[in-house]
Amino acid sequence: MENITRKTLIYKSGLGIPAINHVRGCSHGCRYPCYAYMIAHSHQQVKSYDEWCKPQLVSNAAELLSKELSHKRVLPDHIHLCLSTDPFMYRYPEVTEMTLKLIRIMNSCGVHASVLTKGILPEELADEKKYSIKNTYGISLISLNEDFRKRWEPGAAPYSERIAALKNLSENGLTTLVHMEPYPTPNIIQQNLTNILESVSFADTIQFGGWNYNNLPKQFPEFEKFYTSQAAIVMRFCKEHDIHCETF
Ligand code: SF4
Repeated sequence: MENITRKTLIYKSGLGIPAINHVRGCSHGCRYPCYAYMIAHSHQQVKSYDEWCKPQLVSNAAELLSKELSHKRVLPDHIHLCLSTDPFMYRYPEVTEMTLKLIRIMNSCGVHASVLTKGILPEELADEKKYSIKNTYGISLISLNEDFRKRWEPGAAPYSERIAALKNLSENGLTTLVHMEPYPTPNIIQQNLTNILESVSFADTIQFGGWNYNNLPKQFPEFEKFYTSQAAIVMRFCKEHDIHCETF
């Protein structure tokens, strides 16, 4: 894996939350398409999808994070990893190692990590001596069908592995989240939403949102009605299972 260096790390995202991206590019290569790739491509930071899928690690990320946190007069409550790459990139142990190091640095300063991945959350995160129990761990999950994953998230971890790793952290008493977005319409894949919800019924929060990255969902008749009905299923499921629900 190639390395790069950066001058700064923590930034305030468009969502208003502090975030870091300690990798440039992402081997998961989502084809919805990936919003981060489209932005990087439009700013000519990457020339092609193939280049995006060859991630480069920010080798000085730990030094930058320590320096930037020590210079802050008011520390943020939490920092999000990541909005423009994946913190636990599947089959990239260098990324996992760096992410764990960065979470330890944040936690040692009293800053909590909010993590979202399509990779495997390491068991090590359950070690209370090293990692804050106030961190939040999330996976993205919009299907259980592996053919769908290979088509739309080709480099990401298989769904069963993603869920098992999240469940393990949940069973260790940690706060977990499932991000179900971009949820596909039936012309993309026919699937049963309740089966997906059942597979993550242990989660503390479920977020549900539609597929807004291209026009495919709009080709499904009455796609807006479809999303309204699916959001109602999510809300009902969450209420029945005492799960915090966010739909958008
Ligand atoms: S995991 Fe996230 S950053 Fe990586 S390609 Fe997919 S959408 Fe983009």
